[in-house]
Amino acid sequence: MTIEYDVSEMRERIIKTAAINFASGLTPDRCIFFVQSHVKEHAELAWIFNCITPIGELERMTQFKMKAQQHRANVNMGLLDYPVLQAADILLYKAEFVPVGEDQVQHVELTRDIARRFNNRFGETFPLPDVLLSDAPKILGTDGKSKMSKSMNNYIGLLESEDVIWEKIRTAVTDENRKRRSDPGNPSICNIYTIHTAFSSPEELDMIDRECRKAGIGCIDCKKILMKNLWKEIAPIQEKAKEFLNNENEVKDILRDGAKKCKQISESVMAEVKEKTGISPF
Ligand code: SF4
Repeated sequence: MTIEYDVSEMRERIIKTAAINFASGLTPDRCIFFVQSHVKEHAELAWIFNCITPIGELERMTQFKMKAQQHRANVNMGLLDYPVLQAADILLYKAEFVPVGEDQVQHVELTRDIARRFNNRFGETFPLPDVLLSDAPKILGTDGKSKMSKSMNNYIGLLESEDVIWEKIRTAVTDENRKRRSDPGNPSICNIYTIHTAFSSPEELDMIDRECRKAGIGCIDCKKILMKNLWKEIAPIQEKAKEFLNNENEVKDILRDGAKKCKQISESVMAEVKEKTGISPF
């Protein structure tokens, strides 16, 4: 909501996002999955955190500066305040670990600062959460420069067809210094290699690293291996996601149920916060 969006598409986007995540393995037997805006305590806690967060800290956030550049005509309060809402998303459940990409590490650090400040001012309440990074913590878009986003048109969509995904990978930027097939490449600065680290076997990674450096493998062949491995992971996710999308009521039920379960946690944490901050009801 911090950038312009089509209201009529919002509901569909929520259902699609949920279906993809369920299909990827975040099923109700393994986690509580819900829509943030269905649990009003997120906004309540964010407001309280707003009152202990200096504006200067938010203006320094790299993501804010980047997005403010990209959407100059609409630099709204929500964009600046977004990391505070994220802190509320995390701390409302007293999370100790947050799985994120490298671009979100700064926001988790801000979350720790907010938790520390709250604890100092109102008494020990929140843990200081740590980040959990994956083996490929920083995957860029197909332009090899910025992170994947729709507005930059440099993303690979999980529900896109095999042909569309291959076209995006085939034309994706690699090591830009490698102009000809006979030039040696450097996998350490190639985004395609970074994506390989998330999908390819250690043997394949070794081979690509070795062969790329002596121009033994061309970028197209390297991308073909990536596509094969990527598709092996994506195809079953697409299949399951489609099953969920054909049964929208099941998706809605899971989300409603998730919000109900979350409420049991979020309401009790908010009661504690209101008590400690002196604003609990009489
Ligand atoms: Fe990147 Fe692979 Fe080309 Fe090397 S061979 S530059 S790792 S795409």
